Amino acid sequence: MALIVHKYGGTSMGSTERIRNVAKRVAKWARAGHQMVVVPSAMSGETNRLLALAKELAPARPDDAYSRELDALAATGEQASSALLAIALQAEGMPAVSYAGWQVTIKTNNAYTKARIESIDDERVRADLDAGKVVIITGFQGVDDGGNVTTLGRGGSDTSAVAIAAALKAHECLIYTDVDGVYTTDPRVVPEARRLHTVSFEEMLEMASLGSKVLQIRSVEFAGKYRVPLRVLSSFTDWDIDINEEASSGTLISFEEDEHMEKAIISGIAFSRDEAKISVLGVPDTPGIAYQILGTVADANIEVDVIIQNISRDGKTDFSFTVNRNDYAKAVDLLKARVLPALGAQEVTGDARICKVSIVGIGMRSHVGIASKMFRVLSEEGINIQMISTSEIKTSVVIDEKYMELAVRALHKAFDLDQPAD
Ligand code: ASP
Ligand code: MG
Repeated sequence: MALIVHKYGGTSMGSTERIRNVAKRVAKWARAGHQMVVVPSAMSGETNRLLALAKELAPARPDDAYSRELDALAATGEQASSALLAIALQAEGMPAVSYAGWQVTIKTNNAYTKARIESIDDERVRADLDAGKVVIITGFQGVDDGGNVTTLGRGGSDTSAVAIAAALKAHECLIYTDVDGVYTTDPRVVPEARRLHTVSFEEMLEMASLGSKVLQIRSVEFAGKYRVPLRVLSSFTDWDIDINEEASSGTLISFEEDEHMEKAIISGIAFSRDEAKISVLGVPDTPGIAYQILGTVADANIEVDVIIQNISRDGKTDFSFTVNRNDYAKAVDLLKARVLPALGAQEVTGDARICKVSIVGIGMRSHVGIASKMFRVLSEEGINIQMISTSEIKTSVVIDEKYMELAVRALHKAFDLDQPAD
């Protein structure tokens, strides 16, 4: 018997029929002797529907007065799905109780629409579990010190589930979703992509930040900090499949880098089209240049990713970096208006048709030549690399967007990701 947290996404909670299936599945786990905590998302489309209603009445504004009400509004989606799930469980003969974040209490800071969880009180939940009830806790929300309802940002229910699992020291947090696990790459690009049985937490963190959208990145960070074992699995299996089979399905995000891990050097290929490259040409190569360029960009709340500064010639250098494509125009305008004249640079140029492709694997730590193999594969395909960035467990390249699928397929094959590793 163990304490288990289940998280169900919006699609899994999308209709009363699906909610009934979730209830039957959860009841099966409870009857097998587990203490069950369930964290549902709002029914699919509900959060969008609610936020659209607000915008019909008044266009979005960044101030706290408006954001506070957006949170109060959006939080009702999870409150409804949680209560419905409790009703469905009770109808299955399973005692169940639902709580909103503020009832638990899940304390957050007061950053409306993107609040961070600060603490979770486990007393009430434990008492219910000990009394044999399934406890359902709303995802996506909490309450600040002033008693205001807050939300954690879109997709935040993953983070709620992991944080609740951490607070309760759960045995495992199972994220039920509409995909059946984490894949070596996106199967829509590479049909031979394989589901990974296990992936290390660090690899998952890289993949989540590099564009794999299976889990909200903050939930992975949380899982890492509190060492919560996470499993991503499908909610579309029949609810009455064998519980042991279900418990070992999907992908386990693990902390033990030992024999459990698959023996592959590279675990996955991540990619992102949402990138753009900016270069500031002919800047004087003197102290403070990087700060002047990137500080200006950062002050406008634009995130910078890959950065390259070339060696200088005649005291001048070129400086390139990537930003999210949505921020591209804003960043170029800003640099032209503020940095170009201040630095006496020659020119600001850019390209919004680039993409980033990355290979990820903890095996890179102990194997040399992995990055050069990546470069060889790309050169054999005639793909020009524009920028490179590396960390201990990943190598990313920036290339022309039109070669993205070709690059991903070639790398997937070259690193044998279509072959089972064990
Ligand atoms: N319902 C929220 C959203 O749509 C939170 C979640 O589903 O994780 O963003
Ligand atoms: Mg989600």
